This record gives sequence, structure tokens and C-alpha cells, in this order.
Amino acid sequence: MRALRIVGERKVIVRELADPTPGPGEIVVWMRSAGICGSDLHPYRHPPAHVLEGDVVPGHEPSGEIVALGEGVTGWSIGDRVVVYFRRTCGECLYCQTGHRNVCVNRRSSYGHAADAPGSDAEYMVVEIGSLMHLPDDLSYPDGAILACQAGTAYWPLVRLGVNGRDVLAVSGLGPLGLLATLFATAMGGRVAGIDPSPGRRELAERLGATLTLDPAAGPVAEQLRDRYPDGADKLIETSGAGAAQSAIGDLLKPRGHAAIVGLGAEQFAMPLGRLVHREITLFGASIYPDTLFPEICRFVRDHDLKLDSVVSHVYPLERGAEAFKVAESANGGKVLFTFE
Ligand SMILES: [Zn+2]
Ligand SMILES: [Zn+2]
Repeated sequence: MRALRIVGERKVIVRELADPTPGPGEIVVWMRSAGICGSDLHPYRHPPAHVLEGDVVPGHEPSGEIVALGEGVTGWSIGDRVVVYFRRTCGECLYCQTGHRNVCVNRRSSYGHAADAPGSDAEYMVVEIGSLMHLPDDLSYPDGAILACQAGTAYWPLVRLGVNGRDVLAVSGLGPLGLLATLFATAMGGRVAGIDPSPGRRELAERLGATLTLDPAAGPVAEQLRDRYPDGADKLIETSGAGAAQSAIGDLLKPRGHAAIVGLGAEQFAMPLGRLVHREITLFGASIYPDTLFPEICRFVRDHDLKLDSVVSHVYPLERGAEAFKVAESANGGKVLFTFE
């Protein structure tokens, strides 16, 4: 089979690997669509030793069809349409047992991040059955790739924020995650103010329902927001991971506002303490999503007739992996997907 490999700083190649066979309790997914995520760009820019030396297949947004079953597999059949929950967990800790495996305390290496857990930038992928989720027939494989990681990661903090029709929601960062948050929050009834330096991304956010978009290069975003919404935002989701975006949270929000922090990037969180305390801001982190939420997310997409693929700006065959990563890194477009013919 063909698979991608990161071989150096911003260097991706296509190579041939033996087709994988499933072990006990595993199946093989024939990849139909897979996405490039913001978190794939960290090892792309600065490949750690284990990526360069350990023969890692990147990618953690798999969507495809089961083509082989390992020994002892029950409940899954050849031909089933599946999405893979890429975070590998213990299944035994309190969080795994209570439907919050996204915060499992005994995590193993995630799919696409280690040599012992090959990822989705390949024609085939071996997966433990505990990591499979059913992709409903009315959702496409590209929908599945978007749902695998980013759609859930956008949806879950919006649920925790309780976004509704009374809210102005600031979406900080309009990469694929921020665009999906815009799509979902608009369907939940919120008015979205999207913030991003890229004109292309702001335009896309407006098409997806943002009532207002702000350019941080055009002056303090909190002042721009208050031109339209004088009280500020009720709620906020931070997806960019940038220090400057984090510092602006306390000014964008109304007193007693709530913010979900999703974006990773800077080592330390940057926000003036005075804003946090004096405005009684509530901040929380959100890490992907619990897989127990997956059926609800699929239902929400269906009930609101959301076009998840409207966040996709580029689709490439795996052979053009180097170009796909370059475009994903440019931070100008929307989501980048691989297709497999
Ligand atoms: Zn991802
Ligand atoms: Zn666990």
C-alpha cells in the first residue's frame, strides 16, 4: 500500500509499505477519506526524533470501510462504514468507564503519532475495534474524516458553553476548527463573531453564518467587536493557540463570560490576570470530544442539514501529500482532505 512519511522539516514523501493484516481484536480499514489537522502540522514543522526514526504513518482523521477482520472480532463486519476515534485509551479508568475517555488518565500513543499506532495517511490502517465508530449511511466519507477529529472538537466545547440564541459567541481563529465552530454555533442559534488575520478564512466564516468577522491586524479586536455588540461577547471559543489571541479573551468577553480553550500552540497560557479576576471570567480547556457524543453530533449534522464539507478548500490524492501539507500549513484556506481512488 501507499503511505505518507515525514522525513524532515516540512518534507513529506509517499512510500510503499506492505499491506497490513489485523491481529486479534483488530480490523483493517480501507481509507476512503482522511484529513490533515492542525496538530499534524507540529511534527511537520518540527519533526521529533521518534517521527524521523520510528517510521510513523501520520494522520489521525480516518474514514473508510472495513475490509478485513482479525481473530475474535464480533459486532463488526466487512463493508461497515467507520470513523476511527484516534485517541487510544485504557478502557478501565474512571473516565473511560464514565463516557469521558477523551480525558483517560492512562492514554497510549494516539493513531498517527507513533510507530506502534500507524495513522490514516495510508491506503489501509489496522485499528482496534474499541476505537471504531459507525459512520451513518447518510453521511459521506469526507464528512467522516471531518467528524473524526475536528467537528467533534468544535462541537463539544459549544455544548459545554451551552451556546444558544441569546448569545454572541466570539470564535477566535478561523482555521477548520473555528469554521466548524462557526457552522455549529450558528445552527445552535448563536450570533458568531469570527476573528482571523486571513481574509480568505474570514470570508469563508461569513458564508458559514458568522454575522461579523474581525481582522486582528486592523486594531484591537475587542474594540472592533464592541462597534457592533457594545457589551462584548457572552461566550468565546479559542482555537488558534496564539498568545495574542489568548490575551484578548478578557477584553472580548462581557463580565462573567465563559471561554473554552481548545487551541494548542504556545507552551504557556497568556491572559492578563486582572481581566480574569475582575471580570469573573470562567475559562475551561476542552480536549477533542468523548466518543459517546459521536451519535449526537451525527444527528445534529443531519437535523440541521449542515454541509460539513463546506469547510473543505482542498482535496488531494495521497500521491500529492507534500503539496497537501504545504497548503494546510499556509493557513489561508479551509480543511485539506485526502481522497483515495
Ligand atoms: Zn485532528
Ligand atoms: Zn482510561
